[in-house]
Amino acid sequence: MKFYDVTLPISPNIPVWPGHPAIKLELVRRIEDGARSNVSFLACSAHTGTHVDAPLHFITSGADVATLPLDVLIGPAVVADLSDADVITAERLERLGLRNVHRLLLKTRNSSLSRDVFHDDYVALTVDAAHWVVERGVCLIGVDYLSVEDFGSDGAVHRALLGAGLVILEGVDLSSVPAGDYQLYCLPLKLVGSDGAPVRAILVQE
Ligand SMILES: [Zn+2]
Repeated sequence: MKFYDVTLPISPNIPVWPGHPAIKLELVRRIEDGARSNVSFLACSAHTGTHVDAPLHFITSGADVATLPLDVLIGPAVVADLSDADVITAERLERLGLRNVHRLLLKTRNSSLSRDVFHDDYVALTVDAAHWVVERGVCLIGVDYLSVEDFGSDGAVHRALLGAGLVILEGVDLSSVPAGDYQLYCLPLKLVGSDGAPVRAILVQE
């Protein structure tokens, strides 16, 4: 068995979505200042680093992240190589020739972008690709940048996916993962009422 940790490390230095608050992770008690223990304080957007979007992110009556079903978050997944694509269309997804895929992670050139700054020219899904994913019965779609949708677009891709009840996994680090079949373990923090949450995401090759 081979384990791939496909989670981005979280620290105040990683890029956040433009306009989102900066990540705070700092010691509020220190042993070296006389405290009995070290205690860190964390504050960040729910969409920090590798994270899931729950339906509530774009659908007002949608499910929150605490209620996402484990049988969606854990199970067989396919990593598909789309590193030649500048945009992910339905036609490009169709050419992958996939059948019976429930969890689909898309590896694009995003996986080789530098991690020190935010890039707004990342590869993302078109609306017709979102419909393709929904129609194929996919329950979880993963992308290797902080959004499944073009920077500055109107949310139509998110609404098509989340409106159909899919879970979106964003910011997954596929840089060292070959295309193929895996088991995905993707467990978000159980944040009651939240539209998203950071996850620890692991792919296991058996
Ligand atoms: Zn998100």
